Amino acid sequence: MIILWGSSENQYFMKQAILFLIGISLLPQIAASSTSVSVKNLRVWNAPDHTRVVLDLSSGIDHRISTFSDPDRIAIDIKNARLSKGIPHEVKNNPYIKRFRYGKYSKNITRIVLDLKKPVRVKSFTLKPNAVYGYRLVVDLFDKNKRAVPKVIRPPARRPGIVTIAIDPGHGGEDFGASGRKKTREKKIVLSIAKELKRLVDKDPVLRSHMTRKGDYYVSLRRRTKQARRANADLFVSIHADAFRRSSARGAAVYTLSNRGASSETARWLANKENAADLVGGASISDREDVVAGVLLDMQMDKTLEYSLGFGGQVLKEMRKIAKLHSKRVQQASFVVLKSPDIPSILVETGFISNPYEERKLKSSKYQKQVARAIYRGIKQFISQEKVAFMKPASAKR
Ligand SMILES: [Zn+2]
Repeated sequence: MIILWGSSENQYFMKQAILFLIGISLLPQIAASSTSVSVKNLRVWNAPDHTRVVLDLSSGIDHRISTFSDPDRIAIDIKNARLSKGIPHEVKNNPYIKRFRYGKYSKNITRIVLDLKKPVRVKSFTLKPNAVYGYRLVVDLFDKNKRAVPKVIRPPARRPGIVTIAIDPGHGGEDFGASGRKKTREKKIVLSIAKELKRLVDKDPVLRSHMTRKGDYYVSLRRRTKQARRANADLFVSIHADAFRRSSARGAAVYTLSNRGASSETARWLANKENAADLVGGASISDREDVVAGVLLDMQMDKTLEYSLGFGGQVLKEMRKIAKLHSKRVQQASFVVLKSPDIPSILVETGFISNPYEERKLKSSKYQKQVARAIYRGIKQFISQEKVAFMKPASAKR
């Protein structure tokens, strides 16, 4: 807002009135900045390539992070912070952090020190409240001596006739997914099912697996599909459990990508020429070739969607034998993890965690094993029906 001040007498009163209003609107902010923020808790999540430290806060904050060497440590400075009792000092089996220390840096600044085992690269950001947590400060630590993205990514060699299955347990870390009445967490249930599926896949001589998440940590959706491509996956299965505000909602469902989701995705890939070139055979794409690349990419996506539907149908048929179905046909939606243009992909909703009966079932290792077996049998059916038509040639460049 811009106010142009005049000088006439009657504008004087208006000026006073406006100043008064500005004064009133500033008051609460000034007051808020001088009250303290409490740091209520601290959590550590270990991912294979980084560690995430999360601080629970009573409100949004100003913070500053500094890195020191000799000995390696980082300091998180927070203005007007109060530390709750019981914040951990110790951390077990972490590759980066030795311990936490807390103290006053100056009159207004509270300092949290992370004593380190080795030099790190740090990324930090704040998060607004969600269903489970309030305000948070997230600090990610990466190995300083390891490159952020390996320069040469050498995908595992393809072995003829071996089908690679990317298994994607939904959510993880701070992202709990859906919750049941008995506090059953989706992230935990789907990881157990995924591990059981991995066991079945790895036992099979013509299959091999790649897990997009192996433990309790957060993996972004795009990163999951990227991992699948890197692993040269032929099929992608994402595993989830649903929730709905009506606790009577129940049943399993299988999803593939919707046509709308598919066409917006081909546009995205085309916008990134290197990605698109990768998909249409490694040739570089100039502007003039955009149309051709677009057509090829559309064809590729259509074929992938067709295979996804076939694959989803087989899994749904097997799920019907062990669970009540929420929808009797394969559903289509624009889920990000299903968007690989060249990997037939499905998402299995294994049941409603918000339904007390299904919550109990989802928690039982018996049902978890049944679901894993159903998905496994669906994979086998699809492979035997399509032979290897859906697989990319062994020379396919990734
Ligand atoms: Zn989910």
